[in-house]
Amino acid sequence: METKIAVLKGEIGEEQFIKEASKVIRNGGTVAFPTETVYGLGANALKSDSVKKIFEAKGRPQDNPLIIHVASKDIDEYVKNVPEVAKKLMDKFWPGPLTLILEKKDIVPNETSANLNTIGVRMPKSDIALKLIKESGVPIAAPSANISGRPSPTDIERCIEDLKGRVNYIIGGDKSNVGVESTIVDCTVTPPIVLRPGGVTLESLREVDSSIEIDKGLLNNSDDFKPKAPGMKYRHYAPNAKLKIIKGNRKKTIEKIREMVHNYIKAGMKVGILISEENIDMYSEGEKIVLGSYNDLSKVASNLFEALRKCNDLNVDIILAEAFTEEGLGIAIMNRLNKAAGYDIIEA
Ligand code: AMP
Ligand code: MG
Repeated sequence: METKIAVLKGEIGEEQFIKEASKVIRNGGTVAFPTETVYGLGANALKSDSVKKIFEAKGRPQDNPLIIHVASKDIDEYVKNVPEVAKKLMDKFWPGPLTLILEKKDIVPNETSANLNTIGVRMPKSDIALKLIKESGVPIAAPSANISGRPSPTDIERCIEDLKGRVNYIIGGDKSNVGVESTIVDCTVTPPIVLRPGGVTLESLREVDSSIEIDKGLLNNSDDFKPKAPGMKYRHYAPNAKLKIIKGNRKKTIEKIREMVHNYIKAGMKVGILISEENIDMYSEGEKIVLGSYNDLSKVASNLFEALRKCNDLNVDIILAEAFTEEGLGIAIMNRLNKAAGYDIIEA
């Protein structure tokens, strides 16, 4: 398949590419586009034939439902009932990295919801995404724009790396600055429950409704729980090399990583280390990849997937990562990192 690529630089006249891409959506094709969380692989959410192409392009399991992206808070056409709490959450966090699970209307095909009677809805903040949705005139179903299992792309180059030849159009240029996917809140139950930690923290959700809970399995650090969101059970975000997470107090973590790096190198392996800015001078061996400061987790989140892909570029044989504290955005960061590691977590 031929993929048209448009790299936008914020110059005059670029609207024509958004028009072109929206035509692809209207004609039933696939378009990868930027959002503030990660790049998305989109198609008309209301047409089953279009949506099927997303699953094919990604190699996505059929039972993993898609999130539909809208350009306004007026979503009554797609969902049956918008509870008061969902309205409040929309008012506070839309456009932005928050997906609400609501009861779907029949206009949304079963292919989009993977046969569930609920649907995830999000209004992204990215200007290109909003323009594309508006211009298309339909909601756009879009999972992350990577081949299933790989780290999600946060810039257009990574998107091209995975999807060139697999989709009709790739449009973008903006880097995804949130860097982890949206927080998913199921609003069909009382109290509402967080099914996936993401760009909006639990603390800030609870400022809107203090009763909001989090799917307990998400805090378990193991893959033997039954998550409520179908997609959360899959291996995800994995770099090519084995990734291990080292967890403990700062001193012990550094000591453990140093010792492990040394031994792996002695055994002839190339080692990547994912570390915080504060610890950069603590290691003399290994390929250092700095995620950011542990006092600025938004930076860490925004660098995380690119760091995992950089490990692939560096062709390392093994990756060791410092654990971050599971508070605030740290819950989403560690959820992604734990999954990328297949829950291989070592206590320092
Ligand atoms: P992705 O778009 O690749 O970030 O994946 C979407 C995530 O949302 C997956 O983990 C899905 O399982 C989850 N999801 C989408 N729709 C629903 C739904 N109706 N109920 C529960 N989880 C959902
Ligand atoms: Mg994904």
